[in-house]
Amino acid sequence: MPSAPLPPAPIADLLSDTLTKPTGAMRAVMAEAVVGDDVFGEDPTVRELEEQVSALLGHEAGLFTPTGSLANQLALRLHVAPGEELIADELAHVVRAELGAAAVFSGITSRTWSSDRGRLDPAGPLGLLATGVGPYQVCTSLVVVENTHNFGGGTIQPLSAIRALRAATRPLGVRMHLDGARLWNAHVATGIPLADYGREFDSVSVCLSKGLGAPVGSILVGERDFIAQARIWRKRYGAGMRQVGILAAAGRYAVDHHVARLADDHARTARVAHACATAAPGSVDPASVETNILMLDVGRCGWPPGDFVTAAAAQGVRLYAAGPRSVRAVWHLDVDDAATDHAERVLSELLATGGRPT
Ligand SMILES: *Cc1c(COP(=O)(O)O)cnc(C)c1O
Repeated sequence: MPSAPLPPAPIADLLSDTLTKPTGAMRAVMAEAVVGDDVFGEDPTVRELEEQVSALLGHEAGLFTPTGSLANQLALRLHVAPGEELIADELAHVVRAELGAAAVFSGITSRTWSSDRGRLDPAGPLGLLATGVGPYQVCTSLVVVENTHNFGGGTIQPLSAIRALRAATRPLGVRMHLDGARLWNAHVATGIPLADYGREFDSVSVCLSKGLGAPVGSILVGERDFIAQARIWRKRYGAGMRQVGILAAAGRYAVDHHVARLADDHARTARVAHACATAAPGSVDPASVETNILMLDVGRCGWPPGDFVTAAAAQGVRLYAAGPRSVRAVWHLDVDDAATDHAERVLSELLATGGRPT
């Protein structure tokens, strides 16, 4: 795979919102960033970004990490002792897409509840919780909530459900971590302040490198002592970075300039969802498309997902085969109205044609 030639650029690259490239203005602030050695705590740009994001999320302190997976894994390690468990939705990134890191690095076991498109119903986690189960059963230490929910299709978690879960778990001493890789999208779609979500959790991770368009980076936030511990573990894992203000500057630019514009991504996603539903009723319920992720049930139109992805790619639209019946399309900073028009046309036609063996 590493030696394969790069394919020609698609017209609409909807594979993932991780694909965004830094804009010219972002590169300019990166070039000018004031930097220092962040392992010694001396990079002013990193410190500013950590303070800015932790304040936005209603927490005391923040830690810059190279990836969202590392931000999540530092939180899991600190909340859950070896031999204890975390519980999460069965589609959650921490259980499906981090390659078993919680088990490999931290000796954590996991159990999962099932959901409808990742939507949080407190009954799911509350039905799994095991606390005070003595020396014979695994103790639940942490509940992980993902907002928006990636594999659920960009689903926004209702604040009322989060609050109900918090009210039930807090007296039991069970902690809550928010995988907020796309919390920005939930905030923009609902108008709910980031801190209203953030305050319900002991820790929150957010990504700067998805729809916000920074090339690299996530922030983990929590209480001051918790973040001090996370800083030690980040270094232990080999992710203490030096003059990394050059990347934090991109993150600051993204937070200042690329949050409100996520509404454009949401509008484009909704537009294509409506077109697909018109072209092939049942391929998607437009009411279920809440943010920047569109899941299409192509199986319903007779398409094996892999064939649909290949057919769309031949017409310049890159998608991801997400499940046995579904493909995923994700809108982001680098997909404009013209690319969206093209995707709308190609997807509608393919769905209406239906997949027939050739
Ligand atoms: C992308 C993502 C992450 C972090 O991914 P990295 O590639 O490690 O930055 C975490 N959680 C969710 C839900 C994500 O979509």
